[in-house]
Amino acid sequence: MIVSIASGKGGTGKTTVATNLASVLGISCQLLDCDVEEPNAHLFLDPVINQENKVFTLVPKVDAEKCKLCGRCQEVCAYNAIAVFGKKHLVFSALCHGCGACQYFCPHKAISEEKKEIGIVQKGTKNHLEIITGKMKIGEAMAPPVIREVKKYIKKDFITIIDAPPGTSCPVIESVKGSDYSVLVTEPTPFGLNDLKLGVEVLRKLKIPFGVIINRFDLGNDKTIQYCENQDIDILMKIPFDREIARVYSKGSLIIDEIPSYRQKFLELWESIKIKARK
Ligand code: SF4
Ligand code: SF4
Repeated sequence: MIVSIASGKGGTGKTTVATNLASVLGISCQLLDCDVEEPNAHLFLDPVINQENKVFTLVPKVDAEKCKLCGRCQEVCAYNAIAVFGKKHLVFSALCHGCGACQYFCPHKAISEEKKEIGIVQKGTKNHLEIITGKMKIGEAMAPPVIREVKKYIKKDFITIIDAPPGTSCPVIESVKGSDYSVLVTEPTPFGLNDLKLGVEVLRKLKIPFGVIINRFDLGNDKTIQYCENQDIDILMKIPFDREIARVYSKGSLIIDEIPSYRQKFLELWESIKIKARK
């Protein structure tokens, strides 16, 4: 079973939920950190790293001798990643999606592909947990290929918890697609509600069943609760604003280890996810 933890925006407590949930289960479980721009689940779990692989993508390489500067590659590139300026060719590899269209349409067979390193995937363990972390290289802009590499580690007979990137763009979609259930973590502020609505829209389009966790629920207003009720969205858990939780978080520890009552709360969360995912 694959459960993704997402949030419309950053800083809502998504990684806290993902790491505590994965750790509390006590059975063979994987945690995939797909927040590849800023992965931080490993900071809370401190895994022993036993494997590291580079992630490459293919980008076009133009043979200046064969190129007739016809501009066809520029026309077919939907991402403005290749261009002809006067007598020069430019490839903006950070924008390239590796779709291969320029190579396919080049009438003079002047384009080949070359590998470019865009990140790494680390695999580690901590007790019963397998932790797979994707890290994009600084300066790179293409998160989805790194996320796809992380997701290749999913084992069908394991429970897999995915820590998705914040937001609602391509990296989020790449992370959550294929999930049996998603959890949207939000906070009860006008910004939180706005981003929650965007997240709900994405999950409904992808037809992934989901529920909501409201973090710091006692700090904001009740509009998030009203919205969930009106939209028939399950509120799976409410986490209060608590100085003790903030202290545990800031020292990089798990809530379930330091505040024992949360062990039961996260187990109950898992039970309700299992039931709702089956519906
Ligand atoms: S399509 Fe081929 S020949 Fe035409 S400009 Fe691009 S690389 Fe050169
Ligand atoms: S591979 Fe695709 S995205 Fe990259 S430059 Fe060629 S057409 Fe553009």
